[in-house]
Amino acid sequence: MVLIDRFGRPLTHLRISVTQKCNHKCIFCHMEGIYCDDLNELSADDWGFLANIAYELGIRYYKITGGEPLVRQDIVDIVRNISQYADEVSITTNGSLLDKYAQELADAGLSRFNISLHSLNRDVFMEITGGDLRRVLNGIKAAVDTGLPVKLDYVVMRINVNEYREIISFAESIGADLNIIELIPLGLAINDFNKLHTTLDTIKHYLEKYAVKKYTRRFQSRPVYVLPSGINITLVSGFCNPELCMNCTRLRVTPSGKLKTCIYRNDYLIDVGNAIRNRNRESVKRGFEKANIMREPFFKSESNVKGK
Ligand code: SAM
Repeated sequence: MVLIDRFGRPLTHLRISVTQKCNHKCIFCHMEGIYCDDLNELSADDWGFLANIAYELGIRYYKITGGEPLVRQDIVDIVRNISQYADEVSITTNGSLLDKYAQELADAGLSRFNISLHSLNRDVFMEITGGDLRRVLNGIKAAVDTGLPVKLDYVVMRINVNEYREIISFAESIGADLNIIELIPLGLAINDFNKLHTTLDTIKHYLEKYAVKKYTRRFQSRPVYVLPSGINITLVSGFCNPELCMNCTRLRVTPSGKLKTCIYRNDYLIDVGNAIRNRNRESVKRGFEKANIMREPFFKSESNVKGK
């Protein structure tokens, strides 16, 4: 079985924030659209219980995020517990602690890594993230050494847009795919957003010229460019993108167990945290069903405006 929402979109993916805590301070961070204090974090066993129910409802793909998921000392247990009930579990991390955890995560059943890399210049990296580039590069190496697929996430801003060729070359040198992400104005004052934001036009132009193949990824309808080296580069523009919304197959969960229908929405949070802690299967299931009914594309075009 798979839950289908009013717009005909199946629910197959969960993006779970396991903590709001982070050891970096990215100047642009949208915090996954979670702006309430959500400090009562679910335990590793709680996440396993939730995954068990979600599996029954047809959810197969997990993305673990934060905050920084690796600041949770039980992150390996979280991955192990979820992976029992998933076809794929990936983690989005700033990479700074991967040196320590990459192999353990792989052994626990992780399917692949997404690692943020917004600059290869130590000073620019520090300015953007407040973190140490060297530690992140060590973390990326540890992830590559596990043999699991690695994808880099590069959020493009005025301060780092000139680095795109270097970042592409770096990805090629380690055999990693790359997400090139347009900044979205979430969690940012509009003035700050305007100071940081730039379009992906130059990069798109470059990729159109050099890619040997272009296709559209089914998940959220994203364009993917295959370079002669064989790596895949995905362009992610998530703001004002009705097509991406129409192809969205996911629900989000906050660290304390609130179901969130969209990164941009906080009006329909459904709290199943207590039901999870009390191991109340029926109540958690009902929460998922309710959240699924409330899912709707945030950006709408004429063709997707009507739900059933
Ligand atoms: N701490 C982890 C990290 O840095 O990757 C995971 C959390 S972070 C919020 C998840 C992803 O969202 C990262 O790829 C990050 O670069 C991206 N992100 C954060 N703020 C963004 C924004 N305003 N626009 C676009 N992407 C953003």
